Amino acid sequence: MSQKTAKEALLNLINKASGKIPLRDYMGFCLTHPLHGYYSTKKPLGKDGDFITSPEISQIFGELIALWFINFWEGRGNPPNVALLELGPGRGLLMRDILRTFKIRPALLETLEVHQVEINPHLKKDQCAAIAPITVSHHTTVDEALEALKGKTTFLIANEFFDAFPIDQYIYKDQRWQKRYVTYNTEKDAFEFQDEIFKDPFGNCAFPMKPAEGTIMESAPLVENLFREITKHLNHQGGAGLIIDYGYDKFCYGDTFQALERHQKANPLDNPGLVDLTVHVNFATLLLIAQQHKNMHSKLETQGDFLRNLGIDMRTDLLAKNATDSQVKQNILDATNRLVADNQMGELFKVLQIWT
Ligand code: SAH
Repeated sequence: MSQKTAKEALLNLINKASGKIPLRDYMGFCLTHPLHGYYSTKKPLGKDGDFITSPEISQIFGELIALWFINFWEGRGNPPNVALLELGPGRGLLMRDILRTFKIRPALLETLEVHQVEINPHLKKDQCAAIAPITVSHHTTVDEALEALKGKTTFLIANEFFDAFPIDQYIYKDQRWQKRYVTYNTEKDAFEFQDEIFKDPFGNCAFPMKPAEGTIMESAPLVENLFREITKHLNHQGGAGLIIDYGYDKFCYGDTFQALERHQKANPLDNPGLVDLTVHVNFATLLLIAQQHKNMHSKLETQGDFLRNLGIDMRTDLLAKNATDSQVKQNILDATNRLVADNQMGELFKVLQIWT
């Protein structure tokens, strides 16, 4: 079968797998297939894209993150050979704001190397342009980046990166856990879910409380493995990291798999490869992984608390006071509100801080 369209390539994958693929493989195809994947081909961010992120909303986000890293650096006695690694940098605005703020510590900028992990060739160009004349080493995978950072004190930042990694879903149906697959319904000419009894005994031993019919449980082994590698690296090399994303801080059931198209929710099984697919990040598990390293410190907070503790209100007041135009002033206040208010991004977004 020729595979000129995403649909044809996906059908081919499903047919080869005898009619169904796990949700994890569906997400993986839609997000990162080299020819048809959303992140391999599209420019997802900004007003004309599908979603908007904190550094796109306010410069203060990156400025405060820079202060967090400076605080760590000075607390460790200004170590040399520092690498700042960003995972999934989008249009590069966060890195731009961090590096601009680092100018208040020229000795840090002098000893700093910038690394970014990105799969999207269009975004790589934006990322280089955003920080020129400072240069960046790009990597395609986290493993490759960590390998290049051996021997360096590492600062790691990932904003809205982990939510783009494929997950598995299990649904409690007919009194049993069933694994969620994606199949193709020829009559309806549509992709749809298909659930199949999951033979692994975890359904019986790991969940003493009987879940309600239709309960969904998610598991993100790819993210967990990535995070294990990251914490291992930081533990060994020394450094600090911030993982920021929407997610939950206590173990819970629920379906968080969603598609976003032009800032609206869409059906995640329609238009594979053309819309953003995301899930909420399980920060409870990431925290446990970090805590397995005896010498690693960790703290999990809401984005609102994290930014308020770093002084977002003071910085906002200062910027607003210096604004000459009343509209600009209002925009500054609105942007901060969007980042920290409980009914905006302040509560839903979490910040996992790790340091050695
Ligand atoms: N951190 C940015 C952008 C978040 S969008 C911001 O806050 O604005 C997710 C980013 O991760 C994009 O740059 C996307 O191209 C990149 N990305 C998504 N999946 C990836 C993967 N598997 N490997 C490398 N980069 C990925």
